[in-house]
Amino acid sequence: MYAPPTPPSSGPDASMLYRTMEPRPDWPVAREGALIVFSKGVPFPPFCVKCGADASATVRAKLQWHSPWLYLLIVPGVIIYAIAASIVSERAEVALPLCEAHRSRRIKLLTVAWVAALASIATPVATLSLSPTGSSDNGALMCALPLVGMLGALIVGIVGGRIVTPTFIDSRVVKAKGAGAGFLDRCPPSH
Ligand SMILES: [Zn+2]
Repeated sequence: MYAPPTPPSSGPDASMLYRTMEPRPDWPVAREGALIVFSKGVPFPPFCVKCGADASATVRAKLQWHSPWLYLLIVPGVIIYAIAASIVSERAEVALPLCEAHRSRRIKLLTVAWVAALASIATPVATLSLSPTGSSDNGALMCALPLVGMLGALIVGIVGGRIVTPTFIDSRVVKAKGAGAGFLDRCPPSH
């Protein structure tokens, strides 16, 4: 997806618009195909990672990654996997810039997830307390609702809250997918 560099001639923002094959000190995030690549601790340029528009805020994200081979430990036991993953996972904390539209969309999804989680618990509790002699069919539904509701809320919360997903982290470098084309197009290639 390489396009020839546009001469940085017109307008005060021209330096932010050209594409280059050279490393840019003002733009420490590179791209590798659809991935963003950056060193741990670098500040992101002030543009939304989803669309490339001016960012209105940053969201602190704790990224965590481990080798996919580790998932094999789920076979002997989920707890063994969870312990191993917590020990060997590489972590990176990053402040991700978002524009107002993407920031409020994320907040809305997280709010929906929280309301759904609370409602899935509160509704059966309220229903059972109002009719303690409810039928058994009703009781089964009231038991299933919190589980299904919590699962749905968890998925909405995780998917809606996530901005980028790490595909590799070591002691120095982070690679992540999920950045939008508008942001990726501004990033110089990593090689
Ligand atoms: Zn945006």
